[in-house]
Amino acid sequence: EKIIVIGAGILGASTAYHLGKRGARVTLVDRNEKGQATDAAAGIVCPWLSQRRNKIWYRLASSGAGYYPGLIRELEEMGETETGYKRVGALSLHTDERKLDKMIERALKRREGAPEIGDIIKLNPFETQKRFPLLSEEFSSVFVSGAARVDGRALRHALVRAAEKRGVTILNGNASLLTEQNRAVGVKIGEETIKADKIIVTAGVWAKQLFAEAGIDFLVSAQKAQILHLKAKEEESGFWPVVMPPGSQYLLGFPEGKVVAGATHEDEVGLDLSVTAGGVHEVLHKAIEAAPHTADCAIVETRVGFRPFTPGFLPVFGAVPGLVGVFTANGLGASGLTSGPFLGSELAKLVMGEETELDPADYPVEGAIG
Ligand code: FAD
Repeated sequence: EKIIVIGAGILGASTAYHLGKRGARVTLVDRNEKGQATDAAAGIVCPWLSQRRNKIWYRLASSGAGYYPGLIRELEEMGETETGYKRVGALSLHTDERKLDKMIERALKRREGAPEIGDIIKLNPFETQKRFPLLSEEFSSVFVSGAARVDGRALRHALVRAAEKRGVTILNGNASLLTEQNRAVGVKIGEETIKADKIIVTAGVWAKQLFAEAGIDFLVSAQKAQILHLKAKEEESGFWPVVMPPGSQYLLGFPEGKVVAGATHEDEVGLDLSVTAGGVHEVLHKAIEAAPHTADCAIVETRVGFRPFTPGFLPVFGAVPGLVGVFTANGLGASGLTSGPFLGSELAKLVMGEETELDPADYPVEGAIG
């Protein structure tokens, strides 16, 4: 049996790795789209403080966070030590003490089902700033020790290399589906045709176009995100916790003074890769407001990525109805670095006919077909 995975973002890379681990004959193909979500992502792994109430989303995101430590160990045992993953904890900031108490309540309740949350500690402004020195002195916080940050680019590379070590063939190119009536029989990559028994589409926002060519209206939409990489003078930034100020912005420390500040949420702008004055202004304004000392940082890099959303902001995975032999997963939205590695493992199980931990009926692909 031959399997082709189209799209090597976090989801496709993880799927191919887990299929390779099972000894399947797998080819992973990617066309290196600029705007790949995984490559631009910030890297927060902390789903537990989210105010989102949807249980199906939460199950996926919290399972995803819980899956990380084991996967990272596995990759390290294969010699893949460059994943950018570290459990540095997270600080959720607020000036309103009642909001923080509510947050603690929520986190304590969620810890019953997710011990990996770790310690939940309330910190005063002094203690908060001590943990992330760029911050202003106005915020108290809740610190959650089990939260982590991960470098999406590094982890994706590590997974692709690990997949290769498991015998997966890696190809560069633009893939399209080869169909005969209602069945997919292979993939066309440039002028070359590769026959396959099963095809897995993990193509992020570009899945829309790929499925359209096969006559399927796949409802994935793109949310543009602009994000900045800064450089602080502080060298111990690799140990700083993830910072989540009130609102949807965030700051992360990585080794050697690297600070990531993000990100915009731009709907209805299409696949526009430009770094805009307004986007940079928004990110910097909010970063400097919460953490005045970021004003002294050098601006090193800007990245743009497209978060893939499926209807109801709910991810989907499973077989594609109406197209025999094709499977897909998509819609990881703003939490795909958290859930992607785990969902890739689930998708690999499903394709191999094994039992999954998630119930695929909770994440129906039908919901993303127009
Ligand atoms: P992508 O990473 O977009 O990958 C899709 C791949 O498919 C691309 O590589 C593309 O080249 C390939 N492809 C498409 N069509 C074809 C074709 N026809 N042939 C060949 N290849 C094809 N999540 C978190 O959990 N925490 C965070 O802190 C976080 N921060 C984020 C910050 C930003 C700025 C952004 C943009 C996202 C963030 N996310 C975060 C979300 C996360 O990055 C995404 O949900 C996740 O990366 C989606 O992965 P994916 O594999 O589905 O898609």
